[in-house]
Parts: sequence; C-alpha cells; structure tokens
Amino acid sequence: MSFLPIFPGSVDAVGQPATLGVMGGGQLGRMFVQAAQRLGYFTAVLDPDPQSPAGCVSHHHIQTGYSDAGGLKQLASLCAAVTTEFENVPADALQALAISRPVAPGAAAVAIAQNRIEEKAHFTASAGVAGVTCAPYAVIATPAQLAAVPTGLLPGILKTARMGYDGKGQVRVANMAELAVAWADLKGVPCVLEKLLPLKAECSVIVARGWDGAITGFAPQYNVHVGGILAVTAAYEGNMPPALALRARAATESIASHIGYVGVLCVEFFVIDDGSADGALVVNEMAPRPHNSGHYTLDACDVSQFDLQVHAMAGLPLPAPRQHSPAIMLNLLGDVWFDAASRPRTPDWQAVLALPGTHLHLYGKLEARAGRKMGHLTITGADVAGVQATARQAARVLGLPGLDPLG
Ligand code: ADP
Ligand code: MG
Repeated sequence: MSFLPIFPGSVDAVGQPATLGVMGGGQLGRMFVQAAQRLGYFTAVLDPDPQSPAGCVSHHHIQTGYSDAGGLKQLASLCAAVTTEFENVPADALQALAISRPVAPGAAAVAIAQNRIEEKAHFTASAGVAGVTCAPYAVIATPAQLAAVPTGLLPGILKTARMGYDGKGQVRVANMAELAVAWADLKGVPCVLEKLLPLKAECSVIVARGWDGAITGFAPQYNVHVGGILAVTAAYEGNMPPALALRARAATESIASHIGYVGVLCVEFFVIDDGSADGALVVNEMAPRPHNSGHYTLDACDVSQFDLQVHAMAGLPLPAPRQHSPAIMLNLLGDVWFDAASRPRTPDWQAVLALPGTHLHLYGKLEARAGRKMGHLTITGADVAGVQATARQAARVLGLPGLDPLG
C-alpha cells in the first residue's frame, strides 16, 4: 500500500499522531500495545471488555463488539494500520477495515487459521515442500463421512473445525462407537478426526513477513503442554535436533509465503516417533498472531515477536532477531493463585523475584481462575544449565508443572 511505511512519532495532515490498532484486548494485545508505544506510536484497542488487559494500557479503547460497524469505523478513523491478537476475530470485520486501512494479517489468512479443515489443506499445499506433513485425518461434517472414517485413524482426537483453543473442542476417542458419541456431543458440527500420534515433543516457529515479502523469524521453541495448555517453553541451542529445527523453520516460511501472509505467524509442530533418531515433523496448527510460546523473546532477544508485529504492519524493516540469552518461559495460570486446599493466595513473588534472571509479566487480570492465563515468568541466564536450575527453583516455589521433559 502506498501510504506505508507509517513512521512512529509522525503526525498526519490533520494533526493525528501515528496510531496503530489491534482487534482484541487480551494479553497478546497488551504486549503489542506496549511494543508499539515504546517505539512512539499511539495505540487503539477494540475489545468489548472495559477491563481488557490491552484496553487498560492503550491510548484509545473502543468498547464495542468485534463486528460493530460503529466501532470498526472508529478504529479505522483513528488508526493508520490494524492488526489482530486472537484468531477468532470475525474475518468480515478485518475485511471491512481493509477497505480503508492496511490490515495485517489479512482476512483471508485469518479465515484459514480459523478453520482446521482449510488449515490442513493449506499445510498440505505449502509445508510439503519442506517435507512436513499433517497428521493423518478425515473431515467429519456429515453422517456419511462419519460412517466412512477409516479405522486406521483410531484411536484419534476429534477436533471441532472452528473455535478450538487450549485443548477446548477436542475429544479423544478409542473406537467408532466413542467417535459417534463424541461427534453427537459436539452437536454434529464440522470436525476433523486426527490419528492420535506418538509425540516425542512439540515445538513452534514464529516468523514475521512484510508487505514486500521479506521474512524473518526465530529458531524453533520446544514446548511442553499440560492438560492441553502450554506450560513451558524452552528456547536455547540444542532444544531440538538441528536438522528438524531447520526443516520446521523452512516449513513455516513456506506456510507464510504461500498465502502472501503479512504480520507475525506462529506454526505449531509435533515431533513424532517414527523409529529414527531425530523423529519426524508433523505440522499441527497455525496462529495468525504472536504466540504464547514466543513470550520469551521479550527478555531473551534483541527484537521481540511484538516488535516484529509492529514493524510488519507499519511497513518498517524486519531485522533478523538475535537471541542473546538462553531462556525458559513458565506460564502462570490462575491455579497458582490457589493453595492445595483451593484457598486463594498471593503467589510468593518475593522468593521468585529473588532468583537470578527472572522476568515477571502479569497481564493485569484482576480475577484469577483455574486455567486462566494470568501472566508468565521468563528465566534468562548465561548458560542453559543455569537457566534450567533457576526454572526448577521457580517452578518449585510456585508449584508449576511441565519441567520434567527438559531432563
Ligand atoms: P488447540 O487449538 O487447543 O491448541 P491442538 O490441536 O494444538 O489444539 O491440540 C492441543 C494439544 O493436544 C497439542 O498441543 C498436543 O499436545 C495434543 N494433540 C493434539 N493433536 C494430537 C494428535 N493428533 N496426536 C497426539 N496429540 C495431539
Ligand atoms: Mg495448539
């Protein structure tokens, strides 16, 4: 678009300061706003929640629904460009904004990420060039498709095509009878059945792609999920076999470039046991935004995933990030705010913050609930062994799970 780049600190012809907007006011939006403001941009958040984590720290907070015509008009009039922080933002809303403003990522890319059926078709067309496949799967949208499911896909995981996150909208099924019950329980909405794979590990790759097609990104993160939610991210050399790391990055770049993606994209992979020493890569899903597994970049890299989100949408250069410290990120779910007897408590920040290289990020959510993402703790240090030791100490203090797979 001809009116890019949008320079931070600039003022347009009618005296309006360069303002960047975001659809969604969660923690990802908050960290985006903070990165944009550090550069000197004004920010606007659209989120109906008056207490949204991003709305609370933004210059402007438009408190309407995501499809509200008035709210979208206000966002477009305030902002020189708009991004999104959650994938279930209505694609139509992004489309409407795109009539008058650069929107990154665009509606088409977000629509693919919103639907597992389209997502898998896209992966098959784009990740294959890097030798990466999807899990074997079948689409179940009709009773005939249910009846025709190959038994080789069982045991499997039935996932709703739309609106799933953090393990929601998923049911593990062992046989055809359980599959039929699970699909009925999900009200017969379009689903995919995926074969349950023997996971050795999970990882993710975050890249940023500009309007001009320039692409940059981070090395793969090693992720540990507990109960379907990310618990731990390990980001340092040796976190996964180098050949797999290269292939995961190549597959992610291909997935982004194939659809002319603009913005920050995260792709999640499984490493499955195929009998080889390294294991094989399987692509799982993509998020059209910064990702929980990339939060360590705020403290361990010279350029964070949120900096790249700002740069990409505003048409600024996309420098290759340099990770200067090994890092482990521990997710802080609301569970940490309760003791073993479910009594509310304040986590022992005193002990955690006394540990070397700990960076606490809380998202400003006033009410802690089990499973709610309240914040994260990144541990950086001079070497991997030191970071692991500190992470274990912090996890012990806070009662956090998920560090065992790191060895
Ligand atoms: P969400 O949108 O909730 O993140 P995912 O598809 O990423 O959904 O699934 C959540 C988690 O469930 C994954 O991170 C992985 O641990 C596990 N999982 C998902 N699909 C499979 C599969 N086909 N085989 C084995 N484990 C899986
Ligand atoms: Mg996932």
